[in-house]
Amino acid sequence: MDFVVPPPTQPSLPVAGTTARFPVRRIWCVGRNYAEHAREFGHDPDREPPFFFSKPADALLTDGQGLPYPPQTGNLHFEAELVVALGTGGHNISQEAALGHIWGYAAGNDFTRRDLQAVAKELGRPWDLAKGFDFSAACGALSPAAAVGHLARGRIALSVDGVQRQEADLSDMIWSVDEIISALSASVTLKPGDLIYTGTPAGVGAVERGQTVRVDIDGLSSLVTPIT
Ligand code: MN
Repeated sequence: MDFVVPPPTQPSLPVAGTTARFPVRRIWCVGRNYAEHAREFGHDPDREPPFFFSKPADALLTDGQGLPYPPQTGNLHFEAELVVALGTGGHNISQEAALGHIWGYAAGNDFTRRDLQAVAKELGRPWDLAKGFDFSAACGALSPAAAVGHLARGRIALSVDGVQRQEADLSDMIWSVDEIISALSASVTLKPGDLIYTGTPAGVGAVERGQTVRVDIDGLSSLVTPIT
């Protein structure tokens, strides 16, 4: 193929314990999927179903990679999340079939320019620049579902410089992973290489240059992100 500019490189994630890589196609994210987190932003989790947004695939930041403090914000927030990686895709995937499409799981961090998001919410504008900035999609090494099974419960926690800031159980999710895949696939065709960030528990907060953020999920590789 004779491209007129250099073709973009394929974003990818390491697979835990191997030299293999998982190619990433799209990054989907769920909003407000833990009741306590919905409440901390003044929403009623019983009345508001979760919704979806996305980040560019090349916003991926892998374990140990520094996150350069992004421009145009004074309020960079962490959000610990379970990330689901799809090995097969489809449209209108049933809840019963959903888990069969999962290749693996990882610990993720949905970094957010919270001040830009607040302005976007107030003005009814898109969240893209609040959520989809460079290096905003931190994700640890993937563990294959074939090895670790499917994660319906287990501790998810986040610390900043060793001080715990978020802690919950995956079973606290309002929408379970199979429900998320089914709902999202009713709206778009999912494909191999898609990642889904499944929402964050309560306790989100700001990080500063020089701090290090760590996400731990039972059974998965941890995700460490120094803010540079
Ligand atoms: Mn999030």
